[in-house]
Amino acid sequence: MSNFWIYESHTPGYEVRWRITNILHQETTPYQKLAVVETTEWGKALILDGALQISERDEFIYHEMIAHVPMLSHPQPNRVLIIGGGDGGTLREVARHPELQSVDMVEIDERVIEASKRFFPQVASSFTDKRLNLYIADGIEFARGNHGPYDVIIVDSSDPVGPAEPLFTVDFYRDLYNLMDEDGMVVVQSESPLFFADYFKNVYSNLKSVFQLVQVYTATIPTYVSGPWSFTVGSKKHRADGIAEGRSIPGPMKYYNSSIHKAAFALPEYIRQMLE
Ligand code: SAM
Repeated sequence: MSNFWIYESHTPGYEVRWRITNILHQETTPYQKLAVVETTEWGKALILDGALQISERDEFIYHEMIAHVPMLSHPQPNRVLIIGGGDGGTLREVARHPELQSVDMVEIDERVIEASKRFFPQVASSFTDKRLNLYIADGIEFARGNHGPYDVIIVDSSDPVGPAEPLFTVDFYRDLYNLMDEDGMVVVQSESPLFFADYFKNVYSNLKSVFQLVQVYTATIPTYVSGPWSFTVGSKKHRADGIAEGRSIPGPMKYYNSSIHKAAFALPEYIRQMLE
């Protein structure tokens, strides 16, 4: 068995490692270090700046949960904006909804999209969708521009270091608010409440200072440290914790179902208390 490992280092006392059999691709893009590796347990994995972004084996959990919770709790998600998400997994799930009329996607780093098309074709499967308008641009700049209005916005960003850092700020959330219709809804990936507690609490309080209703849900994604992963919704009108009347799930899922949708909003005490 190979004796090569990749390490995801978090603190001087905590790192995670995956055994790999092959480095399939490595490059330094204008924005980040990008690698694709073949792991022994998780299939191929995409790594950005040393942090695992997706693995073939568990990407479905993250992508189904970041996409279908907002897409199904909104009554009419016709116009959607995705910020980040260059691997294409969120787009793949959003594109399954027949209500979708147009989706704008804003990814800062074209190389992530190219790598995903080449190494993860089952994830990057919707870049040819006719409803897609793809922008290679900074999500921060895009949000300041004259776009939309959108019904649902999904912020599928990498961790809040490097180019993704400003995607966690109150100014950015205010700009997103202004891009939405009067019943719009945004969901952001908001890190591990246990391990990245400060980031998680900041996202919550920043969204609270902008949106009428803010709700948190979680899912466990084994390759994301540590414990449950959080998603935070800012909404102008609709609650996010159930499927909207008249909407139905667009085909077979591997993780998402209506019970999981509701149950994901039941928070353990340590998370609930962080939101008080
Ligand atoms: N699901 C993954 C996770 O949480 O680990 C991350 C998904 S995706 C790979 C994150 C994407 O956000 C990356 O492709 C990165 O290039 C993009 N990104 C980071 N900062 C951005 C910005 N300011 N504007 C647009 N996209 C950005």
